[in-house]
Amino acid sequence: MEKNSYDFELGKIKELIKERGAGRVGLQLPEGIKRVATDIDTEISKETGAEVIISGNSCYGACDIDEKLMRNVDLLFHFGHTDTFSFKKRKPVLKEKKVFFIELRSGVDIKPAVEKAVAEIKGDTVGLVATVQHVHALKEAEILLARLGKKAVIGKSRLKYDGQVLGCEFSSAVVPCDEILFVGSGSFHPAGLALYTGKRVIAADPFTMQISIYEPEEQRKKRYLVIARALDAKTVAIIVGMKSGQFELGKAIELKRKTVEKGLNAYLITMDEISEDKLFGFKVDAFVNTACPRLVEDFTHFKKPVISIKEFEVVLGERRWEDCFVL
Ligand code: SF4
Repeated sequence: MEKNSYDFELGKIKELIKERGAGRVGLQLPEGIKRVATDIDTEISKETGAEVIISGNSCYGACDIDEKLMRNVDLLFHFGHTDTFSFKKRKPVLKEKKVFFIELRSGVDIKPAVEKAVAEIKGDTVGLVATVQHVHALKEAEILLARLGKKAVIGKSRLKYDGQVLGCEFSSAVVPCDEILFVGSGSFHPAGLALYTGKRVIAADPFTMQISIYEPEEQRKKRYLVIARALDAKTVAIIVGMKSGQFELGKAIELKRKTVEKGLNAYLITMDEISEDKLFGFKVDAFVNTACPRLVEDFTHFKKPVISIKEFEVVLGERRWEDCFVL
């Protein structure tokens, strides 16, 4: 199999398949890792004899289990995420005990990136957080930071590990600190951390060694501008995400009721994947997204405002602007 920096736990996967006598197995991988899906398929089917089916659908989080595939296999291996609190709401899925989460822990040493990030830290104390791929290495980073004169606080999390963050769950970053030091890749998590904690975020990518800064005022200003555009809306579409773990029909119906009470027109629209071309055709003035709360940021420059539930509550006059980004 292609050499890479993650632990795919193939030994554990093969053992489980044999132990359960699973004849048909599903694989679900996040976009960036899909390139190795066929290698995993080849290796496990050759050694276990199981028929492997790869999900070609998107896979953004543990909230996003491919349930159709799950119903057609004996075991489903979901890579890159931990079983989270949001997914636990989906009791019928878990009862089947068919879904196994492979966390994809990274073997890359995070210390060089953390050391490089220290030059950007202005305060004395940082909240130290990471995605699940690097969370096991946070203690080492904490010791390194202490040696370099910075105190690190690894906060308790509502997720599986202390210091772990998701794009929509930042409880481990709510600690007494001057700034946040995030270890991981991409802008999705650090942008959300800045938006929701109101703190400056230093993001250290251990793979590329790139250090990036996210200022909370900048992140919030972008959202305030979109909310302001929604203030004139007379007709609103409330999007109900159909992905497992993102389905909030009750909330959407309640929101529609409140919207109509305020004298606006409101419609409920379901979507598996929310994309600009799917929104484009609807004759409404604004969209309210009740699925993944972070999705709205992908539509900042869309011609019609796309806002979250809390942001819409500001439009309805039920929430103060400054309370939009409470965790
Ligand atoms: S940020 Fe969105 S995709 Fe990620 S776990 Fe949360 S709801 Fe799911």
